Amino acid sequence: MKGRVFSGARPTGRQHLGNYLGAVQNYVALQEGYETIYCVVDLHALTTLTGTELLVQNTFDMVLDWLAAGMDPKRSIIFVQSHVPAVSELHVILSMMTPMSWLTRVTTFKEKVQQQPENVNYLLLGYPVLMTADITLYKADTVPVGEDQLPHLELAREVVRRFNNRFGPVLVEPQAKLTEFPRVLGLDGVQKMSKSLDNHIELAADPETTSKRVMQMVTDVSRVYRRDPGHPEVCNVFSLHKQFSPDEAEAIAADCRAAALGCVECKRRLAASLNAWLAPFRERRARFEADPDYVWDVLADGAKRAAAIAYPNLEEIKRAVGLPVSRVLA
Ligand code: ATP
Ligand code: MG
Repeated sequence: MKGRVFSGARPTGRQHLGNYLGAVQNYVALQEGYETIYCVVDLHALTTLTGTELLVQNTFDMVLDWLAAGMDPKRSIIFVQSHVPAVSELHVILSMMTPMSWLTRVTTFKEKVQQQPENVNYLLLGYPVLMTADITLYKADTVPVGEDQLPHLELAREVVRRFNNRFGPVLVEPQAKLTEFPRVLGLDGVQKMSKSLDNHIELAADPETTSKRVMQMVTDVSRVYRRDPGHPEVCNVFSLHKQFSPDEAEAIAADCRAAALGCVECKRRLAASLNAWLAPFRERRARFEADPDYVWDVLADGAKRAAAIAYPNLEEIKRAVGLPVSRVLA
């Protein structure tokens, strides 16, 4: 039997190359060997947002990018977290199986407290429990994670074990699928590419904007003059050439090292390959964008399929816990 993957992403709107190479590309690939469930975790987003006025648009924009990138609603369940409210109920149940001390020691919680001291809300601490509810509600056995997410998944597994020890083997204990995610750097070549740092290149940007952003990229800083030999292995432009101009990369590296290729020309070539690579993506995206009903229907259908897994499972969990199950539902 195929394993079942669950992954959630906060609705961050239009996706950038970092999101694509670090997450979306992998979502697409996993459709091959697994049953895949991909969720826009809008409830999680509420823990960090100051305003919610862009939540709907950001959900729509991210899903457009997902669909255009090849996440296929026929093969994957693609849905919005809050459309299947069972997750909130399971979150409450699991929250009572989770000792506070497990949550207060989570590194990302401590980081968030630093980042938003004016908004240290209740669910900021409970975040990993809501994540555990997401995973277990859909009986996912496999969760793709990067190294930094491992502690969260370990916590989820501990919660599951604790639950199952007490109430019987009801919850599926998820396994981490440790995936090597490249850390894509931003235009500055130093920090991680990120929307909030405005050092990103959007998948959906038009060719002119994309070229302009590429031309702003910082190259090998030790190469001062055009005649200086470059060091492609430390150059962020080259790292993108490897992704988006694979056939030319070897020649580009050699010419850069020999100072036969200058940084400006190197970036022009990256802009050209990136735009060529993005052209079919943009075409698909424009088609989905022109048909918002289709996109919301995909999400509605995803929620229906997700709910078909979630509700019977939630009933089983409630019985196992010993809650009096309603006669109306039984
Ligand atoms: P923010 O500005 O809030 O950080 P973001 O657009 O960078 O927004 P995240 O929520 O940080 O989005 O990340 C969404 C997904 O994309 C995660 O799986 C994350 O690992 C991946 N990702 C984001 N940025 C990068 C990057 N620079 N390199 C590799 N993967 C990335
Ligand atoms: Mg980020």
